[in-house]
Amino acid sequence: MDARKLIAEARKQGRAALDEAAGKQLLAVYGIAVPKSVVVPGAADVEAVFKQLTAPVVIKVMSPDILHKSDAGGVSVGIGSAAAASTAIQEMMARPAIGAARIDGFLIEEMARGGQEVVIGGVHDPNFGPLVMVGLGGIFVEVLADVTFRICPIERRDAEDMLDELKGAAVLKGVRGRKPVSREAIVNALLRIGGEGGLLMDLAADIQEADINPLIVSESGAVAVDARFLLTKK
Ligand code: ADP
Ligand code: MG
Repeated sequence: MDARKLIAEARKQGRAALDEAAGKQLLAVYGIAVPKSVVVPGAADVEAVFKQLTAPVVIKVMSPDILHKSDAGGVSVGIGSAAAASTAIQEMMARPAIGAARIDGFLIEEMARGGQEVVIGGVHDPNFGPLVMVGLGGIFVEVLADVTFRICPIERRDAEDMLDELKGAAVLKGVRGRKPVSREAIVNALLRIGGEGGLLMDLAADIQEADINPLIVSESGAVAVDARFLLTKK
């Protein structure tokens, strides 16, 4: 799939943002690993999915009306069978916030193995053009606002500096018996998003905001398990 086609398709549908499946296709175009996934319309359609994906899987509601899927009860992790998947979707649809929303379908994707959660973001600044952001996931971003920004395009050296600037940088090296995570994988992802020829530079006219939250980083690599791209107004 071509990046511009993904954006054109979303615009044709009158969307302000790419849905999660399209967002992940866009990341894959730029060389960022995403979980293997399938989109289903509803609970009756899960049987075949377990022949295509390796359990356990995660199920997520896809809706232009739901920004924070977990808050709406729209994320179910560790699903091991078609029966459990079907039940999880039925339970989601029974939740008020989801029942009231426009539903594009349900994204079923393989679980990424455990690791440090990192956030990579982007925003199109009216004066400076694309900016790229990185932070550590969870409380580091939400409570401590431990994030750092650069004007694009960044080089490898900038990406390294960004990671060093984080107050929580030590957690990447492994604390309390946890193994260090791949710094190289984070740097590469930052370059693919914010570097020369990266996603934000390439698609500057179309991407207003990017939010990869989280990128799950292990000892050997990184997988983007959530992606949201807000389109510029045209
Ligand atoms: P939200 O819209 O609430 O941000 P996410 O897609 O980020 O929804 O999912 C919520 C959380 O579930 C993530 O922060 C991550 O911890 C976990 N998660 C989501 N997808 C996966 C996955 N494929 N593998 C492992 N964990 C996942
Ligand atoms: Mg998220």
